[in-house]
Amino acid sequence: MAASGNGDLEALQLGAPSTYDRASDDSSSSDESTSRKKRSADSKKMAAKRGASEITTNGTTVAVTQRRNSVSQAARDPRDEPSIKRRAVGSSALAGPPSPIIEADGLSRASKGTRARLEETPEEAEARLDKMRGAVRTLLECVGEDPDREGLLDTPSRYAKALLFLTKGYQVNVDDIVNKALFHEGHNEMVVVKDIEIHSLCEHHLVPFNGKMHIGYIPRDTVIGLSKLPRIAEMFARRLQIQERLTKDVAHAIMEILKPQGVAVVMESSHLCMVMRGVQQTSSTTITSCVLGCFERKSKTRNEFLSLVGVNRH
Ligand SMILES: [Zn+2]
Repeated sequence: MAASGNGDLEALQLGAPSTYDRASDDSSSSDESTSRKKRSADSKKMAAKRGASEITTNGTTVAVTQRRNSVSQAARDPRDEPSIKRRAVGSSALAGPPSPIIEADGLSRASKGTRARLEETPEEAEARLDKMRGAVRTLLECVGEDPDREGLLDTPSRYAKALLFLTKGYQVNVDDIVNKALFHEGHNEMVVVKDIEIHSLCEHHLVPFNGKMHIGYIPRDTVIGLSKLPRIAEMFARRLQIQERLTKDVAHAIMEILKPQGVAVVMESSHLCMVMRGVQQTSSTTITSCVLGCFERKSKTRNEFLSLVGVNRH
């Protein structure tokens, strides 16, 4: 079975007991992924609400409500329609209604500055790097180091680039990941990809947490290319994260993309902010899980997944 280049990655496909939900329906799995939508800042501006117009009559200020209504009504149809349509197109390609986790333009949980980073010119990118270099130089000075000594000369530049790399997941477009790798196979048995290596950054301390994620799902006829699951995990790991949210985001994104009968995600990791500082728990592991659909409803299904990935130790 094909999996990603991750040496540790192990993919299991198992015969499902008859207790699994069988796909029964319409699952509108379209193999095609949407072409990426142009992110348009303009549409946001257009959607901005207008304040009430006011006129002065006989010295009294009166809000012209009729006019405001007609303006908003006239604007609502032509202006709102494209964005509603865009959502519908985007979600139909990923099968299902508009999603709280995958936005119309294919980004998922974009941060405040994600689109600015995506659309920046080479000059703006250089200005961003310069600003970051200055900030790292300041940090070095603040810890009492000499940023001009030989070993540290290029550190601000290296660190700035490393940080941009470690946070590039915000800009990943889900459509590019899925990239036509949804297959209508009529396969409805549990698929588990375990031991996906995760390297992320704790958003509270900006130090790494590393571990392994295990993903299971029960398809509703549609399966996804196995290498896509680690890529979805990486998209959310290359950000400032907390393990709880990372686990949840991966599960919900898979639920949204595949519309399976259920998804289960378990992650075990070691946080350097615990290991190197604070309580200095060098051997503690943090385990988080998120189960959706049939994994949430059926303890038998959930327990089978947990024992397959080796988390259920009793
Ligand atoms: Zn931390």
